[in-house]
Amino acid sequence: MAITKVWLDESQNECSMCGACEAACDAVFEVPEKVKIKAGADLAANEAGIKDAADGCPVGVIAYAVDGGSARAN
Ligand code: SF4
Repeated sequence: MAITKVWLDESQNECSMCGACEAACDAVFEVPEKVKIKAGADLAANEAGIKDAADGCPVGVIAYAVDGGSARAN
């Protein structure tokens, strides 16, 4: 099971720009203002970090899909 997509899902909450996701996985996340998913980031190589970032996001806006299947917003 590989993570194939990561995105910001602000359908219920907004990114608070706390920077926790960047601290958890700076290969994938950066927070210059609102969080950005880095273009070309190696998602498969950073699965643990992505999951840590999604689990640690205080407002639950980091979403990712596994093998192009079901999406998971924290
Ligand atoms: S952890 Fe969540 S709220 Fe904090 S900067 Fe990242 S996406 Fe935004």
